[in-house]
Amino acid sequence: MVFYNPGRTTGYPDEPVEKGFRYHYLGGGNEVGNVGVVLEDNTQNRLLLDYGIAPTRPPKYPKEAPFVKDAIITHSHVDHLGMAPWLPANYNTNLHGTQLTADISRMMWNDCYKISSIEKYPLPWDKRDIDTAMNSWITHEFNEPWKQDNWDLELHNAGHIPGAAMLKLKSEEKDILFTGDFDTRNSPLTSGAKPQNVDLLFIEGTYAGKNHANQEQEIARFIENVIRVTDNGGTVLIPAFANGRTQDMLIRLYQHCPELDVHIDGMGKRIAKLQLENSRFIRDPKLLNDAWNWSRRVSSKSDRKKALDSDVIISTSGMLQGGPAIWYLNRLRHQKENEIFFTGYQAEDTGGRKLQTKSKIDIFGKETDISLNFEKFSFSTHAGHKEITDFIYACDPSDVVIYHSDPNNARPHLVKELEQNGITTHSPENGQSYIIE
Ligand SMILES: [Zn+2]
Ligand SMILES: [Zn+2]
Repeated sequence: MVFYNPGRTTGYPDEPVEKGFRYHYLGGGNEVGNVGVVLEDNTQNRLLLDYGIAPTRPPKYPKEAPFVKDAIITHSHVDHLGMAPWLPANYNTNLHGTQLTADISRMMWNDCYKISSIEKYPLPWDKRDIDTAMNSWITHEFNEPWKQDNWDLELHNAGHIPGAAMLKLKSEEKDILFTGDFDTRNSPLTSGAKPQNVDLLFIEGTYAGKNHANQEQEIARFIENVIRVTDNGGTVLIPAFANGRTQDMLIRLYQHCPELDVHIDGMGKRIAKLQLENSRFIRDPKLLNDAWNWSRRVSSKSDRKKALDSDVIISTSGMLQGGPAIWYLNRLRHQKENEIFFTGYQAEDTGGRKLQTKSKIDIFGKETDISLNFEKFSFSTHAGHKEITDFIYACDPSDVVIYHSDPNNARPHLVKELEQNGITTHSPENGQSYIIE
C-alpha cells in the first residue's frame, strides 16, 4: 500500500544551498529510531543517510525523501533501513553499505512486510520492491574510500552490531562523520568504534545522560541468576532481538556456562549464519562458530517441545511481540521455577513492557496472566554517556549534531556538557532544514 506521493509530499526545500552544508532530518532528528537525514552542499551534491521506520504498533515512518541518487545505510536494524526499499522503487537510488548489512537486509524487509500484512498496517513500499532494493546495493569494505562527485566517502566500523558502519565524508570544505548507532566498547560480536578527527560530527545520543552498568558486573549478575534458576530445575526464557543480541547472549552463555543446555530459536539463527558467512565483520569468528555449534538450534516442532526441558531458550521476538518466544512463554508459564530474563529495553505498548508492568501479556489474541518471576539486565551496544563524550572529545569537532536521542530526557544532558566545553551543539527537529557553514 502506497501513501507517499513521490516528489509532491516531501517537505524538503527546493532552493539550492548557497553556502556550507544543509542537513534535514526526515526522521530520527528528535527521537530514537525512524532515521533519515539528507545532507547537501552548494554543488548540489546530496545524499540520504539511513531510511528506517519505528517498529511501534502502528509503525512510525520518516517524512518522504526528496530525490536522492545515493543513500548510505549504516546498519541492518529496522529503525535504519525499514523504509529503504521505497528509494530504489521510486528514485532508482543506489543503496550503499557493508556486505553484511546488504545480506541481512532482505530478511529484515521480509519481516517488516510480514508484520505489516498480519497486523494490517500500511507500508509505503510493496513486496516486489524488496527485489529491486536487493539489486540496488553497492557494498563497500571498511576504510576503502569511494567518490560521490566532489565528495570522498568512507565507511568505518561502528561497533554496535556486526557490519554496522559510520560514514566519513570529506569535501573541499569540511570533514564530516555520521556515527549511525555506535559503541566504542567491544561486545562479544564486534570491536568498538574508533574516533575520527573531523570538523562536524553527527552523533547518536540514545544514552545521553545515562551511564552503563559495568559490563563485567552485569555479566556476573546475569550468570548467577541463570544458575540460580537452572539449579532450581527451571528454564530461563531470554527474549532477544534477532540481529545482534541473540548471538551476543549465546556467546556469553557459551563462555561462562558451557555445561548448560542452551536452545536457540527464531530469526536470530539465520542472522548468525549470515554473520558466520561474513566473518570479517566478527571480532572473534571462531568464538561465534564454536558457540553456534555448541547451541541447539530449534528447527522443527519436536525440537521446540524438547527445548521446553532445556536450561535456557534464546528466542525472538526481543520485546515479546510475537515469534517463537510467545509460544515458549505460553508453555513455560505453568511452572513457577521458570523465569524470563530481559536483556534489552522494552518499548511502550510492547508485550515485554506489559509483562513487566502488569504481569500480563497477550498470547494468541488473549490477555493472559503471567506469574513467573522476571529479571532485567542491561546489555546495550549503544555508547553510554561517558563513551559518547569521550568519543566526541577525541574526534575534536567544532560542531556536533545530536540525533537519535530523546529530546526531553536524554539530549539536554549532552548539550549542556558539550557547550560547557566550548563545542557548538545542534539539536535538530524532524522536518526542519539547517545550514552549517
Ligand atoms: Zn537505531
Ligand atoms: Zn541499531
